[in-house]
Amino acid sequence: MTETSESGVMGDRAIISVRNLVKHFPVETGILRRQVGVVKAVDNVNFDLNEGETLALVGESGCGKTTTSHCIIQAQRPTSGQVFFRLGDDEPMDLTQMEKGELKGARRNIRMIYQDPYSSLNPRMTLLQIIGEPLAIHRMVESQEELRVRVADLLRLVRLDPSTLNRYPHAFSGGQRQRIAIARALSLSPKVVIADEAVSALDVSVQAQILNLLKELQHQLGLTYLFVAHNLAVVKYEADRVAVMYAGKIVEIGETEELYTSPRHPYTEALISAAPNPDPDTKHRARIVLAGEVADPGNLPAGCAFHPRCRYAEDRCRQEAPELVDVGGSEGQSHFSACHFAESLELTGIAGGLQSEKRGNE
Ligand code: SF4
Repeated sequence: MTETSESGVMGDRAIISVRNLVKHFPVETGILRRQVGVVKAVDNVNFDLNEGETLALVGESGCGKTTTSHCIIQAQRPTSGQVFFRLGDDEPMDLTQMEKGELKGARRNIRMIYQDPYSSLNPRMTLLQIIGEPLAIHRMVESQEELRVRVADLLRLVRLDPSTLNRYPHAFSGGQRQRIAIARALSLSPKVVIADEAVSALDVSVQAQILNLLKELQHQLGLTYLFVAHNLAVVKYEADRVAVMYAGKIVEIGETEELYTSPRHPYTEALISAAPNPDPDTKHRARIVLAGEVADPGNLPAGCAFHPRCRYAEDRCRQEAPELVDVGGSEGQSHFSACHFAESLELTGIAGGLQSEKRGNE
C-alpha cells in the first residue's frame, strides 16, 4: 500500500494531498536538441500534509525535496500527478489543473520562506515595500496608512521593532532578515507555509531562535508547515512527522518519535547516525558512513536506487525496486518504508527516544 488516502483524493485531515507526483527534466544534446535521457527529479511521490501539523521533508542535496515543494505551489509544473488543496469544507482543488490566474487565490494560502535571507529580499526595497507588496498585489489594503499599520503589526508578530519599516534589508542581521521573510510570508494570512531550508544559512544559535519563532507562530495562527531540510537534526524537535527522500522518491515516512527511535529504512538509519548528539552524557552513536555518491537522478541504478550505498544490500535489491508500504509503527501508527527488508532488519535509532535526548540537552 502506498501512502494514499482511503477516502479518495485526499486524506480526512489533509489540507494538501500530493498524488503520484512526477517531475522529469529531459536531457537534450546538439543543435536539434535531441533528447538523450531524462532526469527523474521527483518520481511518483505521495503524501498528505495534515491541517495544523509540521511535516518535514528531509534528504541530501539533489534528492528532489525542493523540486517537490516547488511543484506543490506550481512554481514548477509537474510532469504528471496531482496536488490537491482543500480549504475548510470546500471541495478539493487540483492545483496542477489551474491556470495562472486561478492559482493566485490558492497561492494566498500557501506561502514559501526561502533558504537565503540575503538573496530572497530585494536590497532596494524598504521593509514596508517588501512586506507590504503581497498586500498591495492582492488588494488587501485600501490606503497607504492602512498598509503601514498592517506592516507594523507583522513586524511585531515576528518580534521586530515596527519603527524600522522604512529601513532596508542591509541594516539587519541574517536572523532578522529571516524574520522579515517570515513576516512577508504571513502577510496574506496563509493556511500553509512551506519553509525551504529556512534556517540552513543561519548560525546554530540563530537557527534555534527562528525555529522557536516558527513554532510559536504555528500555535498562535493555526498554521500548517511543510519543512524542507537536508538535516535530520534540524527537524527532530519541530516536526510531527518526517518524510525521508532519496533519488526523487520518499523512502520512509512516519511519526517523528517513531522514525527517530525505530527507523525502518537503512538510509534513515545513516542520516540519524550522522546527526549530532546534543547530550554529552549519553553514549555516542556509531556513525554510519555512506559509501559512494548520492544516486544520479539522470542515471539511476536498477532495483533499489540506494543499493550501491546500502550496507544491507542483497541480490534482490539490485534487481527489484521496493514499494513504499506500511510496515506498521508501534501503537498502531502508520510507518511507511521502501525497503525489501524493512520488517526484518534491526536498525539503530536514538536510544531512549527524542524526549530523553532533549532532557539531556537542557
Ligand atoms: Fe538496502 Fe535493499 Fe533495503 Fe534498498 S531494499 S534499502 S538496498 S536493504
